[in-house]
Order: sequence, then structure tokens, then C-alpha cells
Amino acid sequence: MSIKDKFLRYVSFDTQSDPHSDTYPSTEKQKELGAALVKELHDLGIKNAYMDEYSYVYATIDGSPGHKDKAIGLIAHLDTATEMSGANVNARVIENYQGDDLVLNEALNIILSPSVFPALKDCIGHDLVVTDGTTLLGADDKAGIAIIMELVEFIVKNPSFKHPTIRIAFTPDEEIGRGTDKFNVDDFKVDFAYTLDGGKNDTINFENFNAASAEVVINGKSIHPGTAKNKMINSMLVAFEFHQMLPVFKNPAYTEKYEGFNHITEINGSVNQTKMEYIIRNHDSEEFKIQKQEFERIAEYLNDKYGENTIKLTITDSYYNMRDLVIKKPEILKIAEKAIKKIGLEPKFEPIRGGTDGALLSHKGIICPNLGTGGGNFHGPYEYASLTDMNKMVEILKLILTDLISL
Ligand SMILES: [Zn+2]
Repeated sequence: MSIKDKFLRYVSFDTQSDPHSDTYPSTEKQKELGAALVKELHDLGIKNAYMDEYSYVYATIDGSPGHKDKAIGLIAHLDTATEMSGANVNARVIENYQGDDLVLNEALNIILSPSVFPALKDCIGHDLVVTDGTTLLGADDKAGIAIIMELVEFIVKNPSFKHPTIRIAFTPDEEIGRGTDKFNVDDFKVDFAYTLDGGKNDTINFENFNAASAEVVINGKSIHPGTAKNKMINSMLVAFEFHQMLPVFKNPAYTEKYEGFNHITEINGSVNQTKMEYIIRNHDSEEFKIQKQEFERIAEYLNDKYGENTIKLTITDSYYNMRDLVIKKPEILKIAEKAIKKIGLEPKFEPIRGGTDGALLSHKGIICPNLGTGGGNFHGPYEYASLTDMNKMVEILKLILTDLISL
């Protein structure tokens, strides 16, 4: 099966995860793709491939004779984003794309245009896969799965290709932040790993946000407005006050690159009680700490002003930057950089303004930067994948494997 056939097969499975579910996996349908992948791996002769009860697929390819002691992990996720349906994807292949506007859906007037998405200009001459504009494509992260499966097929069919031990994991529920909750870290014995999850294939990501959530509950005093003088505390007004004391420009709408932010995601209130939800993000762990302290200082001040227990603040850390862990093992980045260069691209390092499964795994002991898969416009109807870049990524991985056993 070519990489094209693999990819088109994987996107035909609806594997959307569900943040409102509390089961593992969050949706049963992710298991269908998991089972199909296990069968494909078995058919390729990887008999140890299996899916566990949580829908994680694991497989190991032993290293070539003399190279079994080194082990690398390759990880991609099964699920697709929650923003848009990934059911009944009507994928279309555009061969040898020429940089023109692509009409995804004539009736709905949905057009994929390089004037709106200039990154498409990097795909001139590529074979692209697009949607009909009514669903997402699912290249995030089925492109990653297709790249890994193509590599597996190459290794099986080319026994003379020398490589280290390769451990593979396809994980559920990445899009809802639970992709590593049930990851079997103990059995996944590797020197390090890469996630193959989105982005261009000249780009390596090893920095991500430190992240926390803050819940602010404000308890007011509700009294008939006619007799409220010097008695009423309107919790909504205290909420406004709270929010206005946060630094104005630490707002996602005013920040980029390494700038952190506090982002209010929800507010619900009445006179009696108001609840606000925030997310707190910063690449720098010291600044991250200061941002959290600012929340605490504001809560303290307002509790002094309006009385104890007016504000109940709960801050919960979500994940941390993997940077400091990765740079302790610089060879992990070097080896990827070298392979990307060898294929004729200029390697780039880009900080992720978000988190990755790799960050969570790094903090669980598996150092795990992210490599690209060549797609773009993820999580929406304009999502596309480049089969040309996916093939190139397979070549990059082969170079990494070869280099790794010569270290
Ligand atoms: Zn992804």
C-alpha cells in the first residue's frame, strides 16, 4: 500500500475525541482505527503489535543484529480535533499542485487559496490531499500515522536496512489533552522519542508552554436592590474588578512567539455568585510562576477588601515546557537537524504556543520533541496534507535511524 492509500484509508475512520466524556478512550470509535492499524502491523509481520484496553496501539521492531541496544520511539495520535467533524471525510487528491485557488466546495463557495493561506505556495509541485470543505481532513494526525506505517513497511521489505530498535505508539485523545494519561511509560523503553504531529517537515519543536488553569469563584451578597445600601456585594462587579487588575497586555490577542498570556475562557455569573475560568501560559518557568502569583495577590487583595472567602481561587498546573529536559540531550535535536539538512531543507526550531503529548511524555521520562508531517490548516475545513512532504518525512526518519546506530 502506498503512503497515499494508507493516508486515505486512515482518514476514512471517524476518530474524533470528546472532552465531555470521562472514559478512556473518550470515544469508542478511536478503537476501530487502532484495531485496523494492529491488523496492518500483523500483516506486515510485526506480530507483537497490540492495542490495550485504553486504545493505545504499541509495536516494537527489534534492531538489526548488533543494533538492538539502542531504541527510538515514534509516536502519533489516533484522534482528530473537536472543533469540526471528521466523519465521512471526502478526501480529494490534487496531483502536482500549481499554486492556484482550489475550489473545495462549489455549492458552498469554499475555496482554499494561497492568497489567504500563503504556506500553500511552499507546496507547488506537490501532491496534496484536501477535503470537500464540510469536514476536517484529519491529517492531524493521520499524516503522522501514515508516515510511521510507511517507514515500517519499508523496514520490513528491506531487511538489509540497518536500524536500531523502534518502538511505536499510536495514542488516543491527544486533542483533549489526555493522550498520555494511560501511556504505558514503563514498557516503552527507548533512549528518546519523537512525536510526528503536524507542522512543516523542516521544523523541530522542543519548546512549549508551561500551562495552568485558574478557577475563580466569587461569592457575593445578594440583597433586594431597594435596601442594598452598604450591604450588597455584587459578585459580577467583583469579577470585573478581578479581571481588570490582571496585566492588560498579557492577553492572547496581544501576544506571540515567546510572550505568555492569561486567557479568560468562561464567565458565568449572578449577583450571588460568579465563576471565571482562565488559562495561564508562559514558556519561561519564572514568568509562569509570577503570573500565577499575580492571580493570588489579586485574590488576597479582594478578600481583604470584601471579606474573607469572597474569592476562592484554585490554580491547577496542566503541563510544563519540555525545553530544559531536551537540551540536556542535545544529540536528540542534532540528529533530526542533520537529517532535515541532508534532505535539502533548512532546519527551523519553533516554540509551540500550546502543549504536546511529547511535553507530557518528556516529564514522564521519555524525552520527546516533535517533528512535522507536512500538512497545514489543522482543525478546520481548509486542512490539507502534502503526500510529497509525507514521503520526504519518511526519508528524514530513515536518515535519523541510520545516523542513530552510527553514534
Ligand atoms: Zn495533532
